[in-house]
Amino acid sequence: MTQQYQITLLPGDGIGPEIMTVAVEVLKVVGEQSGVSFRFQEALIGGAAIDAKGEPLPPETLEICMKSDAVLLAAIGGYKWDSLPRHLRPETGLLGLRAGLKLFANLRPAKILPQLMDASSLKREVVEGVDIMVVRELTGGIYFGQPRGIFTTETGEKRGVNTMAYTEAEIDRIGRIAFETARKRHKKLCSVDKANVLEVSQLWRDRMNALASDYPDVELSHMYVDNAAMQLVRTPRQFDTIVTSNLFGDILSDEAAMLTGSIGMLPSASLGASAPGVFEPVHGSAPDIAGQDKANPLATVLSAAMMLRYGLNQPNAADRIEQAVLKVLDQDYRTGDIMSEGMTLLGCQAMGDALIQVIREG
Ligand code: NAD
Repeated sequence: MTQQYQITLLPGDGIGPEIMTVAVEVLKVVGEQSGVSFRFQEALIGGAAIDAKGEPLPPETLEICMKSDAVLLAAIGGYKWDSLPRHLRPETGLLGLRAGLKLFANLRPAKILPQLMDASSLKREVVEGVDIMVVRELTGGIYFGQPRGIFTTETGEKRGVNTMAYTEAEIDRIGRIAFETARKRHKKLCSVDKANVLEVSQLWRDRMNALASDYPDVELSHMYVDNAAMQLVRTPRQFDTIVTSNLFGDILSDEAAMLTGSIGMLPSASLGASAPGVFEPVHGSAPDIAGQDKANPLATVLSAAMMLRYGLNQPNAADRIEQAVLKVLDQDYRTGDIMSEGMTLLGCQAMGDALIQVIREG
């Protein structure tokens, strides 16, 4: 019997619509082959929503997302909306979506594909075999803590304030996801904090240590965030699973992304306890190449694979997509961001066509 899923598509801004088109085509073909069918419904977010509705996350978008089985998001943002007040910025829509769906865990794999080893800016011997999962806390920490704002002091000086705060419960739930994730991988978990300076990090470290007794098979270590940033480019193979807070995870997952050579290859999954997950590429809306058919759609396609695996429990369909991505790379097809000598340069749509052909050939 065909399993049917309701998927909300959030193409967003910049290259978003181009890469979303490819991911949807891939999902349809893979679905036909895997006994899975999708009902897609598009909704507005980010700059596109600001232009159409005057706000980056219209209530109807959140409502549609909540009623679906999973949400596939491409990218949001762009120069056009950069000077708007914070509550009207595209990023606020994304933060609101994550908060509205209570998505507190963001899983970002950074795996070196053998075909793209030379695309990394680091030496082959440094990046070979790298396979890292960054588990980032997503709905707490400094991006949400109160008080926040720009205030005027008694002397008339302006003072900007953000607050990094975590409760024990917030740390525990992300900690458990991280331990479970590490357990399914190589059973090594590195918790990254700044406990030598920040009390919030001290609590984070204490809770991770407390949780460790429930996961005796997982080896827990701790690292300060500045050292982690160094170690990631020095000997990235030492890491298996990393767990960290919202701000540190935002930065470290982008750094880990660059180990792989291109931000255009990296998917992510954002999960909560009960609501549908949001699956999206790590990169942004790349306004510098938007509308030019130059975008790499593979991160979004791989996000669709993560959606099938982690959101819809359809591992076979996910495997088909991931295998197809490896195959097109084996055929030496590359988009501009991962191009190297001797390879065939394809645009976004042509990369999609190559994927579809490989999937149809089985
Ligand atoms: P970006 O990721 O959009 O782009 C950084 C660089 O990587 C650019 O040179 C871009 O051309 C390239 N790049 C990104 N994705 C690519 C792809 N799929 N294929 C080929 N090249 C790709 O980051 P940025 O320039 O800092 O931000 C641009 C806009 O995106 C901003 O408005 C920012 O707020 C927004 N943004 C959105 C998200 C999101 O939607 N989750 C994440 C980060 C940034």
